[in-house]
Amino acid sequence: LFGNEEHKIVMVGLDNAGKTTILYQFLMNEVVHTSPTIGSNVEEVVWKNIHFIMWDLGGQQSLRAAWSTYYTNTEFIIVVIDSMDRERLGVIREELYSMLERDELSKAAVLVYANKQDLKGSMSATEISRQLDLTSIKKHPWHIQSCCALTGEGLYQGLEWIVGRSY
Ligand code: GDP
Repeated sequence: LFGNEEHKIVMVGLDNAGKTTILYQFLMNEVVHTSPTIGSNVEEVVWKNIHFIMWDLGGQQSLRAAWSTYYTNTEFIIVVIDSMDRERLGVIREELYSMLERDELSKAAVLVYANKQDLKGSMSATEISRQLDLTSIKKHPWHIQSCCALTGEGLYQGLEWIVGRSY
């Protein structure tokens, strides 16, 4: 998928956004090594040569400083959005922009998954893109992809964007 080098992908989103479900879809039928939690609310999954580091945003601010250790050499940030969760989209926006300010993430590309598109009344990718003000991101390549993690629909297209950028 990615060539032989090691790659690091940080996957973030609020609790309940669908991160675990997405990861499960990616790793289906694969033998996966899950390391015990490497920090508070932080999980690392190694799949082939890809390290997925995953955590819930919107957690305790006091723990946040320690998370920068996990940012080093990150090539991709995957932001998982619960497209039903209008109220907390502002939290994601704040977190995303403060992440993008960090030196360790200066080279990272951003993939936003607009998840739970199967649910009636969910926000469209266009609406999410507008609310997050994605067009204002000039220093990082970014892409938004609608998906339904339950069925896997859209996940592969997002992954293709990532793979296409990793050479
Ligand atoms: P995490 O906290 O971000 O890891 O979220 P989970 O992967 O545990 O998912 C939270 C809940 O949302 C679970 O009940 C999932 O089954 C559900 N869920 C995840 N993705 C989707 C989706 O695309 N559509 C629907 N309807 N439910 C989803």
